[in-house]
Amino acid sequence: MRALRLIADRTLELADVPSPPPPGDGEVQIRVKAIALNHLDVWGFRGMAFAKRKLPLVVGAEASGEIAAVGPGVAGRAPGDKMVMYGAMTCGQCAACREGRDNLCENVGGIMGFHIDGFARDLINLPARLTIPVPAGVSLRDAACAPIAFGTTEHMLFDNAKLKPGETILVHAGGSGIGSVAIKMAKAIGCTVITTVGDDAKADKAKALGADHVINYKTERFEGVVRKLTAKKGVDVVFEHVGGEGFNASLFCLKRGGRLVTCGSTAGPTATINLMQLFQQQYKIFGSFGASMRNIRDSLSKIAAGMTPIIDTEVALADFERGLARLERRQVFGKVIVHF
Ligand SMILES: [Zn+2]
Repeated sequence: MRALRLIADRTLELADVPSPPPPGDGEVQIRVKAIALNHLDVWGFRGMAFAKRKLPLVVGAEASGEIAAVGPGVAGRAPGDKMVMYGAMTCGQCAACREGRDNLCENVGGIMGFHIDGFARDLINLPARLTIPVPAGVSLRDAACAPIAFGTTEHMLFDNAKLKPGETILVHAGGSGIGSVAIKMAKAIGCTVITTVGDDAKADKAKALGADHVINYKTERFEGVVRKLTAKKGVDVVFEHVGGEGFNASLFCLKRGGRLVTCGSTAGPTATINLMQLFQQQYKIFGSFGASMRNIRDSLSKIAAGMTPIIDTEVALADFERGLARLERRQVFGKVIVHF
């Protein structure tokens, strides 16, 4: 079978590898059908000093597929069932896992496609507990965006920032995979959405998604525009995943007692925070990573109800690197899908 492997920083190889054995106790065998790309894949492709991993490494962190075979002791799964896969090898035993909060697992074995072998292969054996059924009517292409893009956003907005109907939110990078999902989720509950984009063509697309105000961060200082748009009050919530120098400016966009939730730092991992401002303004800052099982199920329900992902590009497995390049150059509006 095919497996797309990272063999060195910035070097992928489509290899012919042995198929897995029949699934063991508690496992299912999945025929992978679609992978959705995330910035995590770009980090993995470039190589990161802190990422402990062994090469070659099968890439792909977010995926959907069909059950090819069911191992002993597995209930509720049958060949042909459409599934999405949880993107980390969690233990299933600790208190967090038992509550379905796998993103807080105390004994996580690694993130698929980043620390340990991922989904970019024809067949994979997985614990059945790490698979989540795809509702009827949802394509495997759209479902592939549920575990990370939708799940992460759902967790950030509703579990961490506790976004409520009628609030005002600043969504950074509205053209990114999670940014485009955040706009849709916030608009769906009646929030006012301000978003940032890097060019005017993306501004039109963000408006079409429902954003009330779009700021081109390359031509305007977003924090100044946000203060103006909110009559100097600031927003209730900032959806952050860019980091770097913009982090402080994002705090400056919050109203007193406002909440900032972040799941990324694509512009740089460090920022300087004014602590006086932090406590006087009573800001709440949430670090967020991944999603609970419930977040992914809820995401699939939302997709089934019509909140479908924005797809930027669809490529074949052999063109995985071309998809990554679009992400790295910030050319995307929405998600890049890799088909098998
Ligand atoms: Zn665990």
